[in-house]
Amino acid sequence: MSTLTGLQCPECGEEFEPDVVQTVCESCNSPLLARYDLAEAARALKRERVSDRPAGLWRWAELLPVRDPEKRYTLGEGDTPLLPLRRIGDRLGLRRLYVKDEGVNPTGSFKARGMAVALARAVELGVKEAVAPTAGNAGGALASYAARFRIPAHVYMPDDAPAANQAEVLAAGSDLQLVAGTIEDAGREAAAHAREHGWMNVSTFKEPYRVEGKKTMGLELAEHFDWELPEVVIYPTGGGTGLVGMWKAFEELERMGWIGPSRPRMVSVQSESCTPIVDAMREGAESVSARGSDPTRATGLRVATPYADRLILRTLRASNGTAVAVSEDQIKEAEKELGNSEGLFACPEGAATLAGLEEMVNAGEVEPDDRVVLFNTGHGLKYLS
Ligand SMILES: *Cc1c(COP(=O)(O)O)cnc(C)c1O
Ligand SMILES: [Zn+2]
Repeated sequence: MSTLTGLQCPECGEEFEPDVVQTVCESCNSPLLARYDLAEAARALKRERVSDRPAGLWRWAELLPVRDPEKRYTLGEGDTPLLPLRRIGDRLGLRRLYVKDEGVNPTGSFKARGMAVALARAVELGVKEAVAPTAGNAGGALASYAARFRIPAHVYMPDDAPAANQAEVLAAGSDLQLVAGTIEDAGREAAAHAREHGWMNVSTFKEPYRVEGKKTMGLELAEHFDWELPEVVIYPTGGGTGLVGMWKAFEELERMGWIGPSRPRMVSVQSESCTPIVDAMREGAESVSARGSDPTRATGLRVATPYADRLILRTLRASNGTAVAVSEDQIKEAEKELGNSEGLFACPEGAATLAGLEEMVNAGEVEPDDRVVLFNTGHGLKYLS
């Protein structure tokens, strides 16, 4: 049912055999992206029929890389609610403001989408042991799916990561390694151990399939809006998997003839503590320059040098989008408002999107009738200390 045909480097165009374990394009230092037979996908799957399938991201099996239906295990990820934010919308003068609440995913964050697909595909290709660096949530997701697939997993996490992230890795029986430093330091350790022991490294964009899992957020958005994409999508950006994934989903849907050419403006929100994408957008740069970072409560946004920087920046520019930095105080205020006005216990990263929207509204960059979608990427419960 998968219509996967290959893997391609988006920089040099070189194609890579998809049915063996692949990592990145070494010549370009770029992620690889999955390609599908979209004509075949459009024949096999009808737009009107996709909602008849059982809920969850495997509804989109034709557009996902996993070939063996037996490997499409689910913990219930995907098909998260798109909730109207009426009171906040009223305050901001926006008639059609929504949040896609990814906090209800298994493991309490949208990292479940990426890991569900990446681990299923890895196991299908014969992987026996996996490792990943993480700011926190990806580690919990890796541990849960590794337990489900009965393979050992190793998680390298900064030692200041939220307590819930550490606990969930141990609860799923994975090996937790706390690292003094940032996710970049954890990334170096994970890569070294991957090389030494032959473990598969499922670090963000160092393998081609986590982005395919996160792509399903874009597929769901298109479906929610009856195949007319919203005007603005605001996404809290760390490694950029969801942003790049949703954009890829829109391209694939257009090639299948399911949507037209119009696209949302894609907006990256970052914490002032770590602004590689905001800086590169302002400077007109094609890639980020290493500048370090400071701690932030929005731990998932502390990625100083995202590996997919060129893809993130191209997506923002192609969509006529932008990137916005918000302060820790703004994030706190937004968390309060989401709780008080809408009953949503958002994660700091998700709350940051509301703070970013407020900046855009103040700058006159959003129209009252625009359909605006915020992404609450995780549950507030995961950040209790
Ligand atoms: C990982 C993470 C992010 C950043 O996601 P990317 O797709 O890597 O940019 C945002 N919010 C939360 C809660 C996360 O765990
Ligand atoms: Zn290349």
